[in-house]
Amino acid sequence: MLVMKFGGTSVENAAAIKRAGEIVRGRLAQRPVLVVSAMAKVTDSLLAMARAAGAGDRHRALELSRCLRERHYTTAGELLGTGLFTQFHSELEAECDALDELLRGIAAVGELTPRTSDHVVSFGERLSSKLVHASFSAHGMAVQLVDARQCIVTDATHTRAVPLLEETNQRLRSRVKPMVEAGRVPVMGGFIGATAEGITTTIGRGGSDFSAAIVGAALGAERIEIWTDVDGMMTTDPGICPEAKRIKVLSFEEAAELAYFGAKVLHPATVLPAIQKNIPVYVLNSRNPTCEGTRITAQAPQCRSTFKAIAAKKRITIVDIVATRMLMAHGFMRAIFEVFDRHRCAVDVVSTSEVSVSVTVDSNESIPAIAADLATLADVKYEGRKAIVCLVGDNIRGTPGVAAKVFTTLGDINVRMISQGASEINLTFVVEEEDVPDVVRRLHGTFFADPDPEIFA
Ligand code: ASP
Ligand code: MG
Repeated sequence: MLVMKFGGTSVENAAAIKRAGEIVRGRLAQRPVLVVSAMAKVTDSLLAMARAAGAGDRHRALELSRCLRERHYTTAGELLGTGLFTQFHSELEAECDALDELLRGIAAVGELTPRTSDHVVSFGERLSSKLVHASFSAHGMAVQLVDARQCIVTDATHTRAVPLLEETNQRLRSRVKPMVEAGRVPVMGGFIGATAEGITTTIGRGGSDFSAAIVGAALGAERIEIWTDVDGMMTTDPGICPEAKRIKVLSFEEAAELAYFGAKVLHPATVLPAIQKNIPVYVLNSRNPTCEGTRITAQAPQCRSTFKAIAAKKRITIVDIVATRMLMAHGFMRAIFEVFDRHRCAVDVVSTSEVSVSVTVDSNESIPAIAADLATLADVKYEGRKAIVCLVGDNIRGTPGVAAKVFTTLGDINVRMISQGASEINLTFVVEEEDVPDVVRRLHGTFFADPDPEIFA
């Protein structure tokens, strides 16, 4: 059994859905379960309509919804012959009418709650899964539609609900597994779930990968395939460094570090349910399906190269907190982190000295407010336009001289907040945003001059 997850770009229009169909057809013998995202950009558009409705702009909300309806109708029309389309049309229509109804309700109240937002957003995956199901079925595949809300059981933390694994696993095993055993191909939307009471939830942006991993883990899949529109994970951003290479294989830990530092291909949370079950995850390109992609496994493979990849994350602010007053006092860190916590602001890199702490946060509007709160505890400075650079590789562990080689390569570039993560598979530091291209190219030149052919393509 395998789980195949098709991301938004892999179901973005009729041509993409046809391509996905061919890919699935080639794997029927391996008994696939399909998890699909909303069509590309649909989730953003649903959020925009929800917000417009919440702000009382009923007209704009319904206009956006009309475009969405058109897009799904057109795609369905292209995928299904006239006869089948007429049949399916009423099903789509019912969904789209329900969405409009909901938007009118939100606009009437003039308030958008996270719960209602989830309800609106859920239409993306509900529609795409119906569309994929109808299309594959029209082409003779024994598909069966699964409402993810009847399988993925979550808590009620709307917009980033946490799946309750015990209940979810049990439902997946009792509902989806028998379909596979009966030779059918289940099709379900990713990203959405419901509380035990049946209230629709979503599990966080990009959450379809997570759904796929949960399904794979629950059903004991041999592999999970994440179908996207790139050939896999790369040693670095090819836009910055054209010499970037595809990484053929890397460990879950390495992938998680990379995902965190901005490699957009894979959601880091995907890693969790799969890692626990030792299920390999493949990142594959639905536009180039014969490319072997990137395989992510529990254990890092043997690799001659020190690093697997270099990632950079821009739009970072450094907050320097200097507290001479607090010298040798305890409880200082807690007090500082409480401030960030209160503002729901995630802290990435931390470096400390006896009298100061520097942290990085993603640049956002609440930084001045955070700084003002921190100022009651210490002297605070913040500086924007920074970038985190992160070198990832299991071989950092126990290779002497790695840091020396990195910083020699960087020579005259101003480097701050150097940190080697607790996992010992990343070396992270902060530079000026404008230095990123130079830093990345120099490091790539040094560390990927002679890449291990077993690991890099
Ligand atoms: N459609 C959702 C999003 O855009 C979930 C996903 O595609 O992974 O965030
Ligand atoms: Mg995604």
